[in-house]
Amino acid sequence: MSRIAFIGLGNMGGPMAANLVKAGHEVRVFDLVQAALDAAVAAGATAAPSAREAVTGAEVVISMLPASRHVEGLYLGDDGILPHIADGALVIDSSTIAPASARKVAEAAKARGLATIDAPVSGGVAGAQAGTLTFIVGGEAEALERARPVLEAMGRNIFHVGASGAGQVAKLCNNMALGVIMAATGEAIALGVANGLDAKVLSDMMAVSTGRSWATEVCNPWPGVIDTAPAARGYAGGFGNDLMLKDLGLAVEAAMQSNSPVPLGELARNLYAMNSKAGNGRLDFSSVVRLVAPVQDQ
Ligand code: NAD
Repeated sequence: MSRIAFIGLGNMGGPMAANLVKAGHEVRVFDLVQAALDAAVAAGATAAPSAREAVTGAEVVISMLPASRHVEGLYLGDDGILPHIADGALVIDSSTIAPASARKVAEAAKARGLATIDAPVSGGVAGAQAGTLTFIVGGEAEALERARPVLEAMGRNIFHVGASGAGQVAKLCNNMALGVIMAATGEAIALGVANGLDAKVLSDMMAVSTGRSWATEVCNPWPGVIDTAPAARGYAGGFGNDLMLKDLGLAVEAAMQSNSPVPLGELARNLYAMNSKAGNGRLDFSSVVRLVAPVQDQ
């Protein structure tokens, strides 16, 4: 069992840290939000007063933060933790960030003699809670083998997709598809409802037909279709609209760098930006359906 520092205890990091505790690891945690720290302590972790103190003496450091600037700030900022991580420790960043940021952190960590992987995840909050996440890993194979027992306490599938930063590229490809599919699914159900169909009957049909996806089966954007979906609780929790917006921005940026056409990705980025401007930025990204239907009244 390992001594693990876990930084960032939000919708995803909180349950991931709890699963590490359940697997018998000694977990020291830090988050800027006291309520997030309290929840982790209730799950059996030990709270540290700062990120620096959380990582002191840790064999493995895991971060699960919103975006590139938070991750670069945590490791490389003026008061960054990189100099305080024990020699020989393993660093795992599971946040979804720009591939260039992941490479920057990995290079700085390597210069300090630390092994690093970028290991963004897929599977949502439900996957984080159930310990069934998919880890999408970039970095050296040797570092992944060291990380594997720790990742297995939080996830079910582990894919090694390439060198540092490659995990982030693959994650952005997945989320670009997801963002497009969610917007398209909401639009299709809204069309059906506007033409007199029942949203649940339509969704049940689509879920066993060629229009099926995670959006029809697990995170259906229409309220009243799936009890456990964010749509059933006013779009609270889940995967924030503004996090999807961030990921689509990173995907479009990667597309520009590689001269790749991503017409649907660009359109989806605009849809989630519009949803954010409409005041839904902190809600689950499936609230994008509100752009085409007044579902909040249901
Ligand atoms: P979140 O906003 O719920 O949680 C982020 C946490 O990080 C917050 O508790 C915040 O207080 C904390 N934080 C920010 N800066 C910090 C710092 N400097 N030190 C310590 N704590 C700090 O976000 P989330 O939904 O948990 O997502 C985290 C990452 O995982 C994002 O990159 C997101 O894109 C990705 N992701 C999310 C989901 C999902 O379904 N929510 C799924 C897959 C991947």
